[in-house]
Amino acid sequence: QVKARYQFPGGQNLEIAQGDITAEDVEAIVNAANAMLQHGAGVAGAILRKGGPQIQEESDAWVRQHGPVTHGRPAYTHAGRLPFRYIIHAVGPIWGEGDEQSKLSAAISGSLQLAEMLGIRSLAFPAISTGIFGVPKDLAARVFLQTIADYFSQSPNSPLSLVRITLYDTPTLEVFLETFETWR
Ligand code: ADP
Repeated sequence: QVKARYQFPGGQNLEIAQGDITAEDVEAIVNAANAMLQHGAGVAGAILRKGGPQIQEESDAWVRQHGPVTHGRPAYTHAGRLPFRYIIHAVGPIWGEGDEQSKLSAAISGSLQLAEMLGIRSLAFPAISTGIFGVPKDLAARVFLQTIADYFSQSPNSPLSLVRITLYDTPTLEVFLETFETWR
């Protein structure tokens, strides 16, 4: 359910929606992961339950091969039983560890770059770091909007034509919509 939309000069759309990210009609979704890609609770748990064990198996193989996932360089796997081409596993900061804004921004821009590299044209993000990781929702909303806007101003011809932020709970949706109204 799309609640707000903004179109960048290059024609790409940014949408704010409410819903379950596993039900989005996009080519790829971003997971709010941890560095070891151990998908347990929160949105990661929902993705794993619906996608099945293949996602955890591929994630384990990724960490064995590349080591822990850093903020700026998300991992990716296939989606198991979910109808996406890929799942991008981005690692946001934990509130209190320091430098949260730039780490969250790196996770978002790294996901956009990776999606583009994978040939993805539509991508949905959850509100990375605002659940178990405890980053304040208003700060996360500002970082999301600024990072996505910066990305499309630096890549005005990006073929990534849709970026949707899919918020699950109503309090988070409301904060993102308020931030969007002052930002647009
Ligand atoms: P983090 O550990 O990065 O904080 P969480 O998964 O705990 O990640 O929470 C991130 C956000 O994802 C929260 O706003 C939470 O409400 C939301 N969320 C939980 N389940 C879903 C889902 N199925 N689809 C979209 N967002 C979800």
